[in-house]
Parts: sequence; C-alpha cells; structure tokens
Amino acid sequence: SHALTDLAISELRELAANVLRRLGVEPPEPGELTARTPITGGELLTLRASTTAEVDAAIARADTAFRAWRTVPAPQRAAVVRRLSALLTEHLDDLGELVTLEAGKIGPEARGEVQEMIDVCEFAIGLSRQLYGRTMPSERPGHRLMETWHPLGVVGVISAFNFPVAVWAWNTAIALVCGDTVVWKPSETTPLTALACHGLLRRAARDVGADPEVHQLIQGAAAVGEQLVDDARVALVSATGSVRMGQLVAPRVAARFGRCLLELGGNNAAIVTPSADLELATRGIVFAAAGTAGQRCTTLRRLIAHADVAEPLLDRISSAYRQLRVGNPLEEGVLVGPLVDARAYDGMRAALDRALTDGGEVVCGGERIEGPDENAFYVRPAVVRMPAQTAVVREETFAPILYVLTYHDLEEAIELHNAVPQGLSSSIFTQNQREAERFLAADGSDCGIANVNIGTSGAEIGGAFGGEKQTGGGRESGSDSWKAYMRRATNTVNYSTELPLAQGIRFE
Ligand code: NAD
Repeated sequence: SHALTDLAISELRELAANVLRRLGVEPPEPGELTARTPITGGELLTLRASTTAEVDAAIARADTAFRAWRTVPAPQRAAVVRRLSALLTEHLDDLGELVTLEAGKIGPEARGEVQEMIDVCEFAIGLSRQLYGRTMPSERPGHRLMETWHPLGVVGVISAFNFPVAVWAWNTAIALVCGDTVVWKPSETTPLTALACHGLLRRAARDVGADPEVHQLIQGAAAVGEQLVDDARVALVSATGSVRMGQLVAPRVAARFGRCLLELGGNNAAIVTPSADLELATRGIVFAAAGTAGQRCTTLRRLIAHADVAEPLLDRISSAYRQLRVGNPLEEGVLVGPLVDARAYDGMRAALDRALTDGGEVVCGGERIEGPDENAFYVRPAVVRMPAQTAVVREETFAPILYVLTYHDLEEAIELHNAVPQGLSSSIFTQNQREAERFLAADGSDCGIANVNIGTSGAEIGGAFGGEKQTGGGRESGSDSWKAYMRRATNTVNYSTELPLAQGIRFE
C-alpha cells in the first residue's frame, strides 16, 4: 500500500490490463472514448464509441434474436442466467477490482455490487418458474377467463456510472428469463466494466448453447443513448441516471408509445426522534451519508433530527466522520474513495457555498484532500447544519454532503421530509411504534423505500427498488418488478356450445 500522493497511473493501467485479461476481454480498438480512473484521474485506455450504423445493427440483431428467444421455455432461458451467476462467482474479485478502478468504489462496496449481481441472478432463476398469471371466475357459463404473461421485446438499458454493474444485472437477468433481449448503453464513464459484463454474458450464452445475440453492447455518450431511446424496435427503455436525463428520455419514449422504466435521482432523508437508539442511528447515518463518497442514488442527504437529540447526535456523527479514512479505494481499511470527476467536485463546492450563503454552518468536513494528481478529487464528507430547507437542500448534489435540520413535532418532520421533488429512499430512527407506523402510513413518507431503524442505502434485491415523483416511478429487481419486462394478455376461452355475450347483451 502507498501514500495516496505516490499512486502512479502506470501501475493502475497495468492492473486494469491484467484484470481485463483475467476476465477474457480482448483489448479494445483505441478511439474517442476514454476510460479513466478516478483514483488518479488518469487515462486507463481509449476505445471506440458505437457509430449510428453500429447502434442500428445492434438493435436489429437483438430484435431478430428476440423472435426465437421468446419461444424458449422460461426455465430453459434461465440456464444462461445460471451460467452467468457461476462466471460472476468465479470472477467476483476481478470484476470488483475493475469497478474500483473505473468508478472509484472501495473494495468491499465494489465486491458487494458484484455479489448483488449474483443475488439477482439467483432471484431470476427462481422467477423463471414463477411468471404467474391469474385466473378469474368468468361471468359466463362454460367459459374460462385468465391472463398470460408474454415476453415484451427488446429492452434498452441505459445505466449510470455509480452502479456500473449491478444495475445492468438487475435489468438483464430478469429481462432474459422474461424472454426479452437486451441492448445496453452503459455510462460513458465506465466502459470497461461494460465490456467485461458483456463478455461474461456472451460466454454464458455460448456455454449453455443459447444465442449470444440476446445481448448487445453499444458504447458512447448521450447521443448513443438517444438513438436507442428513439428506436421503435425497443419495447422498453429502462434508464437509470439523473432527473435531467429522465426529463429528456421520458417524452421521447412516450412520443412513440414505448414503455419507460425510470430510476432517477434521490434526495433521501432520515428522521431521528427523541426515543431513537443514538448509537445505532449514528452507525446507520454515517454509512448511508458518507459511504461510496455520497455517490449512491440512495445516499442519505438530509438529516431531520428532533431538537432534543440534535446536539448529542451531531457530536457522535462528527466524531465518527473524523475517523473515516479517505483515500485510495484499492487499499484495505479505506472507507471513502474519490469523487468520480472534476464536475462532481465542482458541484460539491458550489453546493457548500450556496449552503453557507443560506446561513448553513459546517459541522465537519468538506475539505479537499491532496491526491496523486490534480485530476483526482478526494474530499472529507461534510455535515452542514441548515437553518431551513432552502433550495440547495431540495436538490440532489451527487457528493457527500449531509444537511441537518431540526424539528419539534413529528408532523412538521414528515412535512419537511416530503417537501422535496425526489422520492426514492427514506428512514426513521425511533423506538416508538406509533412514530414508526406513522412514518410508514399513507400520510407518512412519500418515497418508494421507507425504512425503520436502518439507513436509506443498501437495499436488498428481494424487494422492488425505485421511487416516486422525480425519481421516475419505476421499480426494478425483486418482488413483482418483472411485470414491467413482459406484456399481459387477457384470454377468454369458450368451451360451451353457446355464445353468451358479456353484460347480458342480446345481439340477435
Ligand atoms: P447521468 O444522468 O449523467 O447519466 C446516466 C446515463 O444516461 C448515462 O449512460 C448517460 O450517457 C445517459 N444519458 C444522458 N443523457 C441522455 C439522453 N439525453 N438520452 C439517453 N441517454 C442519456 O447520471 P450519472 O451521473 O451517470 O449518475 C448519477 C445519477 O444517477 C444520480 O442522479 C443518481 O441518483 C442516479 N442514479 C439513480 C439510481 C436509481 O436506481 N434510482 C441508481 C443509480 C444512479
């Protein structure tokens, strides 16, 4: 292990080359896309972006593959996902290392992301025998009424830099057992993890004798994503990223009556009530607010603490923050890695300046730490006490800033909690059952995820993941999220010799 300032890009390039080799990825042809590592800010390698003709051809291949794939029985389709799960287990450390190199996540979080891929594969394999439709009692004698779930078509997956592999797996494992084919447009910030996942999936398909064309990878920035979004052969666009991206994508998909599944930004809060276990709350808050350097969609960004516990809670939080090791994410024991790029750092600085102008007071953190290069951005996570929930607090700044507000009664806290445009994740820390239930009730938290005595981040794959309002309304991963990837047909079968009409109509 090295001092942060001694890290050399040449070493990281070699690490990347080795890990790509172990993953079986051929060195890509150099081009206009740059794969960088936020660890030093330096370039790992370059690769070509997909051309318009290549994107078109990829969609055409996925569309052709779909025509056969949809007729393969779902439990047989699951064989590809089972093999993918085995390959991911074999390469967990390799893919984790690549996530660290490309997204800057610390080792345990990067490997955790790969574990999440394996978990969703297991879920999808079981799901392949449980794509249940319902049967309903028909109002007519001698008739059967039922519904059948059919494969939908080509799914276009657009993903963000901060979960470069798990979000792809959530979508792809489920889409494949549902009988869909996938065209993936990963973040232009993480093209190497995308090459690795694509390679593993194609290998899994070949290993079990399935058509590798069920998965296509297209690389590039927003324009490549737009082509995918606008193509009528893409039945579902599942897009993860900023609210701004969703605002551009959703109307374009709607204009052609395509389906959209949106997983956009969050502005997640935790309420801490007077009865809370402050020791447990502190641990939950620090992990959710400072983990992944504040670059999770579920990162805790607002703390709404009761006036009676705010001081002792802030004392605990700031002493935990002072012990957080910020540094090289490849090094064991480091808990906070770098911000992804200069834009993220500028965004953090600008938000801190606005918060101070609004009367905010920095409790701890916010400083930049010297890294190996001026293009590497390491910061100490910040806690800022705010006099009110001003405009900057209502926005998502994708960096580790925790704004602290105080309240006197729970109604006021819930009101503050819901008074932001986003609606992804939320928590309450309390030992009072009435308060906990109040938070989970219809007039409580308005988020897609509402937790008690656990932070806002780190969801399990078994539940449906997603949020309301500007977070986009989509649900992915567990529970019945699979329904977004299929189309429903309602079937009426007449096995009688009569032709009774519905609603008792006579037509003769
Ligand atoms: P981003 O919006 O900049 O990019 C996301 C993806 O969208 C990238 O692949 C990008 O190339 C693509 N894109 C951008 N403009 C597009 C357009 N006009 N048409 C088609 N594609 C376009 O987001 P980011 O900086 O990579 O990720 C951080 C954001 O993602 C945060 O807001 C975070 O909250 C959000 N996020 C949400 C979830 C969730 O599940 N809700 C998960 C992870 C990240």
